[in-house]
Amino acid sequence: MTVTLPVSGSDMATVLDCQRASFLNEEPSNIADRKFQLKRLRAAVLTYRRELAEAVSADFGHRSHHETDILEVLCVVQAIDYLNRNLRRFMRKDRRHVGLFYRAGRAYVEYQPKGVIGVMSPWNYPFSLTIIPLATALAAGNRVMLKPSELTPCTSDVIQRMITGTFPPEEVAVVLGGPEVGATFSGLPFDHILFTGSTPVGRKIMKAASDNLVPLTLELGGKSPTIVAKGHATRQTLDSIVFGKLSNGGQTCIAPDYALVHEEDLKTFITEFEASVARFYPDGPTSRDYTSIINDHHYERLKGLVEDVRTSGARIIETGLMPDDAPQQLRTLPPTLVVEVGDDAEIMREEIFGPILPVRTYRSIKEVIDYVNARPRPLALYYFGAQDADCGELLARTTSGNVGINNTLMHFAQDDLPFGGVGPSGMGAYHGIEGFRSMSHAKGIFIQGKWNLTSLLRAPFGNIANLALKVMLRSHDPH
Ligand code: NAD
Repeated sequence: MTVTLPVSGSDMATVLDCQRASFLNEEPSNIADRKFQLKRLRAAVLTYRRELAEAVSADFGHRSHHETDILEVLCVVQAIDYLNRNLRRFMRKDRRHVGLFYRAGRAYVEYQPKGVIGVMSPWNYPFSLTIIPLATALAAGNRVMLKPSELTPCTSDVIQRMITGTFPPEEVAVVLGGPEVGATFSGLPFDHILFTGSTPVGRKIMKAASDNLVPLTLELGGKSPTIVAKGHATRQTLDSIVFGKLSNGGQTCIAPDYALVHEEDLKTFITEFEASVARFYPDGPTSRDYTSIINDHHYERLKGLVEDVRTSGARIIETGLMPDDAPQQLRTLPPTLVVEVGDDAEIMREEIFGPILPVRTYRSIKEVIDYVNARPRPLALYYFGAQDADCGELLARTTSGNVGINNTLMHFAQDDLPFGGVGPSGMGAYHGIEGFRSMSHAKGIFIQGKWNLTSLLRAPFGNIANLALKVMLRSHDPH
């Protein structure tokens, strides 16, 4: 059974009931079952690779197949392989310490599948942000219901066909639809929800989940600062910033949102930025590897952010502009620097999610730390410079989901690192053992030994209990 539009709340509830019944009535999945599911998923991803690249490009207006291969397919395959390789270790019972008075008992933690996991995903990486959570949930032995974004209908269609052709619906099902379907979906009594999307919608999801006390992983957005240490506005730094900012047309949750550059380096930063853009995208916004903005709404929003600051006197540098008669690509904006913009401007208050990089200058690391700490805790923070005292201070005194040093985006590809935000940028994490554990119930089990000291502490209390207490408290008998 695959559920397609229009879908009613009762349809979704039926799918959930069916998955839960299957989870409860069938044999608990063992390592071989899980590896088999991961293997099938991996093969399906590769089978649909070409179709997927075309679907994503159709959804965006234009996205290069290479970008989809690298940022969606490769990430997914790498994550599946990592889960496969580490599954035995992840599933292993975890022996825990037993206090002296409880010996010879045994204590351990067993990581049990939670049951049915609901996965809700956004449009910007519509495939990988649906399939990596799915792989994690399957590795942890769960059933899964997926709710991909309505803004990428071609990709969602590929996901639906891929899943239907690979898994029976009592194992994995796909529900399609927009905010209304999402609202009903998030109100279902799942055993866990993993939501990836915006912070405002994340709040709604948390409210809906609270009715059933469903535990949540929230992967949200925000403004990720990028700090360039004095003397580090080099070609290498700017190549990395341009890669992080312009991949997927800037529509990346962990893209550098704004840059903080030492005041003495501003000129070099701008020159190197323009040079990097020219190397990566020689035909500017008409380059074949430059991704379009997802829809008119976001295109107009981004243009509005720039127009808003144009009138405020900030310096706007649009790079790679082509003559008006150059063949235009649908909904592309030139890579744009906005230099020394005021903090009140909309562009410094909302997540940009496009190829625009505000640049502010600073004098001391203290100023940078105060600036970051005066704002909501970001999903990612990037630092370019030596691993020196300033770097140490920045790391110790700011809190962000993750940190990249001398790189952007690459922490997402480190499968062994937990990935997630903190506070307004998210809650909980996936990837790494943390991902496996977030979709498992850590069940603590204590097995009583034949004899232990606490068995002497039972009524009626008398001399034996006093003696036992004396030993346990290592004190004199108060009586
Ligand atoms: P979104 O919050 O609008 O949508 C995400 C999902 O929620 C979609 O499936 C959508 O259908 C559903 N939804 C939308 N409105 C809803 C409602 N009222 N009730 C229930 N469900 C609803 O996010 P988006 O625009 O698709 O994605 C962009 C945002 O996602 C950005 O803020 C970005 O930073 C964030 N993001 C975060 C990560 C991460 O890993 N932390 C990754 C990618 C994107």
